[in-house]
Amino acid sequence: MSSNPTGDGAATQGTADLNHETSVQDSKPVYKGKPMTWFRHLSYITGYGMTPDVLDEYKRDVDDFYADKMCKRCEDNRDWLLTYSPIVRFMMDQVREVNGNLTTDSIKCMRCTKDQAGGFHPKYGILLCQNKLRDRDHVEDTMAHEMVHAYDHMRFKVDWDNVKHLACTEIRASTLSGECRPYQEWMVRGQWKFLRHMESCVRRRATLSVSGHPKVNGDMEMAGRIVDQVFDSCYKDTRPFREVYR
Ligand SMILES: [Zn+2]
Repeated sequence: MSSNPTGDGAATQGTADLNHETSVQDSKPVYKGKPMTWFRHLSYITGYGMTPDVLDEYKRDVDDFYADKMCKRCEDNRDWLLTYSPIVRFMMDQVREVNGNLTTDSIKCMRCTKDQAGGFHPKYGILLCQNKLRDRDHVEDTMAHEMVHAYDHMRFKVDWDNVKHLACTEIRASTLSGECRPYQEWMVRGQWKFLRHMESCVRRRATLSVSGHPKVNGDMEMAGRIVDQVFDSCYKDTRPFREVYR
């Protein structure tokens, strides 16, 4: 079993974040960035004096400076969804049915340095990237996505080192989580458009995630070929849902 978790929404693997668990709990991090002045926020808003380097530094400092607030918001959203979201509650039940023991403690809000919304690690559980999640809907899609990985891990014994296995669970997670749901207008305009949007969105997101696996090493063409190889059977497999319901 590989120790590589999935790093979702990213071209790179989200390896380190969940391992920060202990350091985060043991001591309150001390802010080490530059002072968070009004001028810096203003530069960001206006773009004045913002070279790419300065922008990166600013974003990093914002994530650090507001870490407590972001963490609290993420945890509040997580707890609300665990109580009220139909898809999150359904998936919690399904993971429990296949003997997975997901609890609030195994769904962690943390600061991520990579461009990813969340991740799943067989040992540590689910990661929610507190500084990358826009709003509660985004947290909901991300939780549902990672819970599909948790379900697959328990039910189908995913070998995370096998890129075809990874491609398959990524296809399923993107299809079933609702993150590829089309806009309402497309729904109304016609089924074929709906299906086409959904399929290309799932392909794109699965390819991106697979490209982050060490064996694929960012090669998007190779990732695309792996996704193609398993796409049809994994896209059709909607377990534990009877069908894709949104
Ligand atoms: Zn994923």
